[in-house]
Amino acid sequence: MIWAKEETMSREEMEALQLARLQETVKRVYEKVPSYRNKMERAGVKPEDIVTLEDLKKLPFVTKQDMRDNYPFGLFAVPKEELVRIHASSGTTGKPTVVGYTQNDIDVWTECVSRIAAMGGATSKDVAQICFGYGMFTGALGLHYGLENMGAVIVPSSSGNTEKQIMYMKDFETTLLVATPSYALRIAEVAKEMGIDPKKDLNIKIGLVGSELLTDAMRSEMHKLWGDEIIVTSNYGMSELMGPGVSGECEYLCGMHINEDYFLPEIIDPKTEEVLPPGEKGELVITCIKKEGIPLIRYRTKDVTRLIYEPCECGRCTVRMENLDGRTDDMIKIRGVNVFPSQIEEVILATQEIGPHYEIILERNNHADFMTIRVELLKETDSYRELEDIQKKIKNRLRVILGLDAKILLESPNTLQRFEGKAKRVRDLREGA
Ligand SMILES: [Zn+2]
Repeated sequence: MIWAKEETMSREEMEALQLARLQETVKRVYEKVPSYRNKMERAGVKPEDIVTLEDLKKLPFVTKQDMRDNYPFGLFAVPKEELVRIHASSGTTGKPTVVGYTQNDIDVWTECVSRIAAMGGATSKDVAQICFGYGMFTGALGLHYGLENMGAVIVPSSSGNTEKQIMYMKDFETTLLVATPSYALRIAEVAKEMGIDPKKDLNIKIGLVGSELLTDAMRSEMHKLWGDEIIVTSNYGMSELMGPGVSGECEYLCGMHINEDYFLPEIIDPKTEEVLPPGEKGELVITCIKKEGIPLIRYRTKDVTRLIYEPCECGRCTVRMENLDGRTDDMIKIRGVNVFPSQIEEVILATQEIGPHYEIILERNNHADFMTIRVELLKETDSYRELEDIQKKIKNRLRVILGLDAKILLESPNTLQRFEGKAKRVRDLREGA
């Protein structure tokens, strides 16, 4: 089901709408947000210089640092009294980034999430269990409002208390699961321990997973545990832009459709900051063109992707962004090599003898970096030979894919930490890291 008529607009109609909204937003922030006006003045650009969508590139970028420098409300375009909600990022490094929503912003957010839920197969008949932690994090409330707006039954079970989650899931006949991929795996694992087969005894048909990257390997792992028929889609967003709802995968799983009438995407070369031609891979930059509380212009997401303009079989005409290899924020640097934990995850999940849980430990000795990866055996074994073979297999694959050596520690089944929200897979013990 296609939720909104905007998703099937022709390119010309969409661009006309985008331009009108962009002009209005630029004029508003120029008038209402001093730090924007200063930036625009330094760049020598005025609202009336935005005549075509091409002119977007004349505008200065906004970064996460700008949000921190203006903490908490410096980038807001409305007085606090006009807001109805505030969210914030966790702020593990420095001050959190704070975002505010007017009632219109909440309505737009809800609309965007309903579209993404519809892309993932959700309907008004679904019983949707939200296993994201509720709170300042935008994931849970975003999905909550979007799915409720569709007419689905919401079970706001939040994260944690996994056995109770499974009881609700069974008794309420939950059909749709909202969780991080790692928590979805955990739920299936605990269900099995309780003697419940997620494939047969539970009713889940749709997985809307987010907040963590969904790699192809992780998607297959989800199918292994929850059944081949379930539709597992990932979606993209960040609290700075709104929360979940910026883009999402449809059932054809060929990239994530961007809600372009609200989010205007560009791809830039992160070094030269030049806009790249359509189809090229680079950093995703997003301009919010219909936001009131905190409309960010040319926000540098630090995520690397490409835009796909070819029509999609689902009938939507909105541009798609290719699924990410990793979030730049999660990237680790080992001996000068940039590595996404997701690349290591692919190798681990492709190894039959071990489970999907892992931990990456980084250490530094005599100015050299060392990586240890702890993984879990699916079955205990006393055969030294067998253990050595498994270790070798993982080591060799990592060397081919990353060009790096790692020490592989094989742990007994069920020994590594499990996560109920976003998994913490990397322990960086290097000084200054
Ligand atoms: Zn599609």
